[in-house]
Amino acid sequence: MTLLCERCFGPIDPSREQYFQLAHIAHADRTGNVAWNHAAVHTAPCGSAEPVADVGGEQRRAA
Ligand SMILES: [Zn+2]
Repeated sequence: MTLLCERCFGPIDPSREQYFQLAHIAHADRTGNVAWNHAAVHTAPCGSAEPVADVGGEQRRAA
């Protein structure tokens, strides 16, 4: 199974990287049964900040 990080959307290699597994409530039915969405996130800060795409040559800055 391929894990994707919920924070950076990058792949997580369970054999080399540490990660948390999270569960989010998707919905509940009338009887109270809860459906869960399971997710994973890197434990350490996510990978290097390599640019994903050059958007018109402009640099992005935090506001
Ligand atoms: Zn990540």
